[in-house]
Amino acid sequence: MWSLDGHFEFKDTQHASRDFGNHFRFPPHAILRPESVSDIVMTLKSVYEMGPSSNLTVAARGHGHSLQGQAQAPGGIVVEMESLRDYIDVSSGELWINVLHESLKHGLAPKSWTDYLYLTVGGTLSNAGVSGQTFRHGPQINNVRNLEIVTGRGEVFNCSSEENPDLFYGALGGLGQFGIITRARIDLEKAPKMVCKNSNPFKSES
Ligand SMILES: Cc1cc2nc3c(=O)[nH]c(=O)nc-3n(C[C@H](O)[C@H](O)[C@H](O)COP(=O)(O)OP(=O)(O)OC[C@H]3O[C@@H](n4cnc5c(N)ncnc54)[C@H](O)[C@@H]3O)c2cc1C
Repeated sequence: MWSLDGHFEFKDTQHASRDFGNHFRFPPHAILRPESVSDIVMTLKSVYEMGPSSNLTVAARGHGHSLQGQAQAPGGIVVEMESLRDYIDVSSGELWINVLHESLKHGLAPKSWTDYLYLTVGGTLSNAGVSGQTFRHGPQINNVRNLEIVTGRGEVFNCSSEENPDLFYGALGGLGQFGIITRARIDLEKAPKMVCKNSNPFKSES
């Protein structure tokens, strides 16, 4: 018998059948609100053991800012990653705005952001993560040291450019098709105290 740290929601599932694009609406059968990586492991293992004939799909959902149903699981299980926010490294369900606020307390900031910060770490690392800093540092997927991933078989892997590199590069920009990212170690840099000394940078000196 399972013992989950989080829980499954079977009744109030409507919001997980929508996303920012508002084009596709596929209600899941259930929402998993994980509170530990082992909740995700047990769920994926059980689905995998049901075999392909079950047709049960699973999708991770970050902040639901996809446009075409990428984070939906018709009749399946949506894993709400925002429930998972308790890591020292960045938990993948964390919003970038919170990552920025926390790192600023230490005088640091992520090297590569998105312009809009109300997106989850796992959601943008499954796409690319593009912002004004991309011209200098590359997209967010170029500024990750390692990932923890739960694969479709319910196995947990650490991966980086040296360790399990195929999984690492597959998951970055992989739209959740290679597993669920549960944790990411991202590059930080010293945050400037201010971005411009002059109150009006366009004011003529003469
Ligand atoms: C208003 C708005 C502003 C935006 N601004 C920017 C921007 O400045 N820069 C930029 O690069 N993009 C931007 N985007 C696009 C955005 O980065 C993507 O839509 C991103 O996927 C949304 O993140 P999310 O947390 O909402 O993910 P979701 O939409 O919930 O999920 C996106 C995809 O990632 C998968 N996924 C989610 N979490 C995980 C996980 N932990 N592990 C594995 N797969 C996962 C989902 O299954 C789905 O396929 C913007 C989108 C909107 C609507």
